[in-house]
Amino acid sequence: MLSIKNILKRILRKPTRKYPVFSIKKVSPPDVSFIFNSTGANICVYIENWEFNTKDHCQLISSGNSKLVDYSVCPGCNITMHKITEVFGNDGSEGLKTGICPECQYIRHIDNFPDEWYSEHFRNKWLERDESRESNVEKKNEPAELINKYLKVQSPKVLDIGCGLGDRLKGFQDLGCEVWGCEPSERRGRIASEFLGVDIFCGDIEEYLEKADIKFDCIYLYCVLAFLSNPFDVLEKAIKLLSPDAVLYIKDGNYTQHNFFHNSHLGVMRSFFSEFTFEKFAIRNNLEIIYSNKVESEYLFRKNDRVPKAQIESHCKRENFLEKYFQEELSLKSITPGKLEGFEMHYGPFDRRVKYAVYVPEGNKNRSVTSSLPIKFIHINKNLPPILVK
Ligand SMILES: [Zn+2]
Repeated sequence: MLSIKNILKRILRKPTRKYPVFSIKKVSPPDVSFIFNSTGANICVYIENWEFNTKDHCQLISSGNSKLVDYSVCPGCNITMHKITEVFGNDGSEGLKTGICPECQYIRHIDNFPDEWYSEHFRNKWLERDESRESNVEKKNEPAELINKYLKVQSPKVLDIGCGLGDRLKGFQDLGCEVWGCEPSERRGRIASEFLGVDIFCGDIEEYLEKADIKFDCIYLYCVLAFLSNPFDVLEKAIKLLSPDAVLYIKDGNYTQHNFFHNSHLGVMRSFFSEFTFEKFAIRNNLEIIYSNKVESEYLFRKNDRVPKAQIESHCKRENFLEKYFQEELSLKSITPGKLEGFEMHYGPFDRRVKYAVYVPEGNKNRSVTSSLPIKFIHINKNLPPILVK
């Protein structure tokens, strides 16, 4: 029998957030004198060492000869986004940049590999290192069990955008739904076709949505939105394919749930909707939010032209969620402005360590982080700025 102590131990061992909390310890700062004067008034994070094993799910690659492309206009609002982070090599060469839309709080890498690079990557290389996951397809009950409660017709037609191995569509199929899927990775799409016994479209998602002549009772994107070049466009195309009373379901990564190093370097996660982005998107597209779990960035919408827009808009609050996030992720409270402070972080997902130092300029003493952006990440031992892919 379990003692109270053991039960408590078990409960406490359960992580309270989905992504690991990173343990950070103080170390002596690296010598960055050779670049120290060129950094201006921004908060700088000097990365001394960050390695990945060849078997890791993620890999740090150099941007190399691929020219990065400018994505600094918010595709939802058509206005220029504000830069929040940028990555540099030790010779000043520029890498990934991230920005936020001042209108809808959409976060995106505003300098990143071109769309063609991603099309190729998702088609041929996506998750190729994840052998165990890729060769064992198992049915997943979510989100089918949740969404099924909101479906109003017999044998609903369900489309999974970016269906991967078909594991989540299987949940719908077993509940009596007719299922469709589209998937950019040819290898994964083939596995899904076999697993479900239906034809899965392998190729460009936008092309599929443009050509589809079926009306669906449910369309969903499960952890797919962040990988799209223009998620607003994909969602608008999907909405056009919804039958009356149909639902649109989205679950995605949440920017502030991820580690800051991960966010600034993971090029393959191209953008994030914030809570405000989802709400604004719903208003613009006459969608009623019928279920949400905001911590998990999970939303279920239904078309409804009668929802009073003014009423929804008043519920939308623009919280300065980034200020709190930057403060916590960089342990800024423990740093003396004008002094270089060294840290070592346990980078949870792969049991790796990142050695880095943070410098807050003296003038920033009483200023908020968000008033002196972008935060600069400088790799002091690498000429070319690295980008994380998987
Ligand atoms: Zn926007």
